[in-house]
Amino acid sequence: MLDKCTMLLKKYYGYDGFREGQGTAVETVLSGRDSLIIMPTGGGKSLCYQIPALVQDGITLVISPLIALMKDQVDFLNGIGINAAFINSTLTGPEIEERLIMASRGEYRLLYVSPERLESASFCMGLEGMTISILAVDEAHCISQWGHDFRPSYRQISSFITRLKKRPVVMALTATATEQVREDIVNLLELTDANTIMTGFDRHNLKFSVINGADKRDFIKRYVKENSGSSGIIYTATRKEAESIYKFLKENRFKAGLYHAGLGDDERSASQDDFLYDNVDIIVATNAFGMGIDKSNVRYVIHHNMPKSMEAYYQEAGRAGRDGEYSECILLFNAGDVQTQKYFIDESNLSPERKSMEYQKLQKMVDYCHTSSCLRKYILEYFGETVQEKNCGNCSVCCDVSERQDITLEAQKILSCVYRAAERYGKNMIIDILKGSKNKKVLDNELNMLSTYGIMSSIERDVLNLLVNKLSADGYLRVTEETFPVLKLTSRSLGVLKGNEKVFMKIEKIKKNVSVDDDLFNLLKGLRKEISIREKLPPYIIFHDTTLREIASKLPCSRDDLKKVKGFGEKKIDLYGSLVIDIVQKFVKDKNAISN
Ligand code: ADP
Ligand code: ZN
Repeated sequence: MLDKCTMLLKKYYGYDGFREGQGTAVETVLSGRDSLIIMPTGGGKSLCYQIPALVQDGITLVISPLIALMKDQVDFLNGIGINAAFINSTLTGPEIEERLIMASRGEYRLLYVSPERLESASFCMGLEGMTISILAVDEAHCISQWGHDFRPSYRQISSFITRLKKRPVVMALTATATEQVREDIVNLLELTDANTIMTGFDRHNLKFSVINGADKRDFIKRYVKENSGSSGIIYTATRKEAESIYKFLKENRFKAGLYHAGLGDDERSASQDDFLYDNVDIIVATNAFGMGIDKSNVRYVIHHNMPKSMEAYYQEAGRAGRDGEYSECILLFNAGDVQTQKYFIDESNLSPERKSMEYQKLQKMVDYCHTSSCLRKYILEYFGETVQEKNCGNCSVCCDVSERQDITLEAQKILSCVYRAAERYGKNMIIDILKGSKNKKVLDNELNMLSTYGIMSSIERDVLNLLVNKLSADGYLRVTEETFPVLKLTSRSLGVLKGNEKVFMKIEKIKKNVSVDDDLFNLLKGLRKEISIREKLPPYIIFHDTTLREIASKLPCSRDDLKKVKGFGEKKIDLYGSLVIDIVQKFVKDKNAISN
């Protein structure tokens, strides 16, 4: 049976084999046994029920919490020749009725519904004539109050199952692995003798980096420039910051969109679509963005601020590289971020116990930003995996080749300048004094009389900026939270000033290009965009970046060649095969013409 499934995998999806856990999941369902499937985001959960849906008689009912996700999945399935539909609140009564009739005629292999739908009597009546062979509960952690997106209507699923004439095989799928959530899923869904299939949480293709003390805007500007043409998400802690980074990027002529809960519905959905359809490269957003987005070609996720917990971080950062291509997750850390998150917890109306839990989670997040051992190991161990290797070779700690520099002397000069200036000025003024600037404000306030005036005049302003940021990121300086922030000394500064503590710094460099774009890849992206406009579907649903990249390297020139490209199933070959071959051939010909 698994052979047949592998064949279908190739035929429809164009994939050569199952990934870790998928084969076992498929076999479990087909043997009639319930299952709990836990895989990280991008692990490939959907295939676990989509493939069985093709070989089972009857229909597969998929319960999915998000309207956008349902639509994406259904568009994708129809695009590869698998009949599927969704029923949710975006449809009118007659449309729902029509889809139910089609379903009972056996027109769909899969039907996606929202959990609330199961409580509708007319919907349940509509299902009566059908055989539901598989019931897949996607994002199953929504059933648990311990999960991060509790959804009360998930609690109705088990009674819905009992009311069915024949009990389908039940599959629960999630990316949340904590024990409490797992137990809740099994108990509340009343799974019988469930086979728990859990794959590792590592996302090999993601490079994790923490950058401490950089000028955040400057970093972002240089990074998005180096990676223009690639899709990326920039997360900020507050709406205000999202607005200001967005403005900053627009001023610098980058193609960016904005998304946060303070915008109107229309505005938000327009920004989201612009991003999904590759009309803009970058989306600047708060954590309101992302649920239900399965855009597969996000090449980088930059956190402009540290999030509140490792759970939140891994979920948000995990939106990069769902297609398995190399992608980067970068966290720009600054000590001020901790204050912001603490403030959020203080101001929340959580119970004292919950507040203390949140503080603990926050501390783990802060530790991640400061750890000097492998970041991947830190993440995986946080989620309960044991990791043997010390060096993953793909995180900013393991890949760090920069030398640690002793900057104690520089630190002493800066800190004493802050002290001499009576802790009354902001960063720019302190730098002006150190540089010995003749700026009017410096002279008016007689700051040129200070003993630290001009003592760093030979050091470039950019470097001074970096040094001050570094000192505040590491807690040697504190930046007040006022309209005009002022630098203050801290208990740590004293140790440095007295010569009892040494200060070190590593300066991270920006690596060029997450993806090495070549000309053919860009031509293929152009074709994908044309198809996307014509068919009104997001580009990543037409082809994944992986597929385009493989075409660009394999240069297929026949139908048989295309079959060997991952992600090129039969229907896609029929629809777009000749367009792709035309582009490849023209490219090869032009190239030969140039080199001859
Ligand atoms: P999840 O729901 O677990 O986040 P998806 O089901 O959306 O993950 O799959 C993530 C990506 O991996 C999709 O782009 C999918 O097409 C791809 N994928 C899944 N299974 C395979 C496979 N066996 N071979 C190659 N690509 C796969
Ligand atoms: Zn590492």
